[in-house]
Amino acid sequence: MAEPLAIDGGRPVRPQMLRYAGQSVDDADIRAVEAVLRGDWLTTGPAVAEFERGLCSRTGAKFAVALNTGTAALHAAAVAAGIGPGDDVIVPAISFVASANCVLYCGGRPVFADVCRDTLTIDPADVERRLTPQTRAVVAVDFGGQPCDYDALAALAARRGFRLIQDAAHSLGATYHGKQVGALGTLATLSFHPVKHITTGEGGAVLTDDPAEAKLARSLRHHGIDLDLHARNQGSSWVYDVVSLGYNYRIPDINCALGISQLQKLDGWLARRRQLVAGYRRALGGLAMLELPEECDGRRSAWHLYVVRLHLDRLDVSRAQVFGALRAENIGVNVHYIPIPWMTHYARLGFQRGQWPVAEGEYERLLSLPLFPAMTDQDHADVVTALHKVWRAYGR
Ligand SMILES: *Cc1c(COP(=O)(O)O)cnc(C)c1O
Repeated sequence: MAEPLAIDGGRPVRPQMLRYAGQSVDDADIRAVEAVLRGDWLTTGPAVAEFERGLCSRTGAKFAVALNTGTAALHAAAVAAGIGPGDDVIVPAISFVASANCVLYCGGRPVFADVCRDTLTIDPADVERRLTPQTRAVVAVDFGGQPCDYDALAALAARRGFRLIQDAAHSLGATYHGKQVGALGTLATLSFHPVKHITTGEGGAVLTDDPAEAKLARSLRHHGIDLDLHARNQGSSWVYDVVSLGYNYRIPDINCALGISQLQKLDGWLARRRQLVAGYRRALGGLAMLELPEECDGRRSAWHLYVVRLHLDRLDVSRAQVFGALRAENIGVNVHYIPIPWMTHYARLGFQRGQWPVAEGEYERLLSLPLFPAMTDQDHADVVTALHKVWRAYGR
């Protein structure tokens, strides 16, 4: 007899919910933030530039522009890529909605492409099929932390003349053929939301090797003000000029102080993520209901998410029931992501289901297991125990 599941009135594997992701903040982080709070600059001060230098030296990007969210970074990247009304931008059908919204902010038209079955990253062959003379950019999302097929995407970009925007919200610290994310020749964006690799509370950054793109992102962050004029006049004149439609996307020094301190711990956290992933592989490899995520040759994932896929033909129940059963065991599983074109706002724009067979088919099988550096070995063991319990109850 299998032990009764918590959802059927049995005892949960653990007494409290294990979150699927979350930040690690230590005393050094708190001291760094406190020092800024006691200083002169809460925003637009030296911590912003120091954080940007730290991002450049960690990733190898020539320029980093820090902004107040990853979504603002995507918007700035889309503007820097020159996207405007009349432009098509190809976006993967599976991602967080911000990957597509940045196109709409600029008045462009998102065109959704299907993803590769193995990695769930944008499929270069499908990108090629969906190119139009109006295609100005492709947003490539490093799903779960694994870089996309940049050899194929860059070759296509060079041949067909579009800019590659790399949504690297999941992939800080990942490598592609030994090169760091941020140094792949793309216009890349990061997010520092608390579930991501490092946090600033809220925050993001644009990474580029192109000085003109960096300058545009910097100006857009600060109301579209002409920053050269501003620098020349500093302290000696009231004159400033607004040369484009900008926003207030500035990130405070308070947040950047946290980011600087967090960045020092990134490598240790990446190693802990890899260790947890190796543990999942050992403990779950034999469960016939699961297909585990894999790294492709030449790509090293930053393991932001651990997305497994259910073999529904080996289960008596649906994904929703497995999800509910694991939540009842106090394992905070999640699903990343519902296809963006399925969202009401996108349906209203005319997108209809059924155009992305891989993304829409695989979506039905996705399940994200908890993965974050502060997770303890006991937390990890609880996830494994709960999955085995569910397999005994529902497996066939
Ligand atoms: C988190 C995330 C973003 C947006 O970042 P925010 O900092 O939350 O605005 C964009 N794209 C992807 C794929 C993300 O996961």
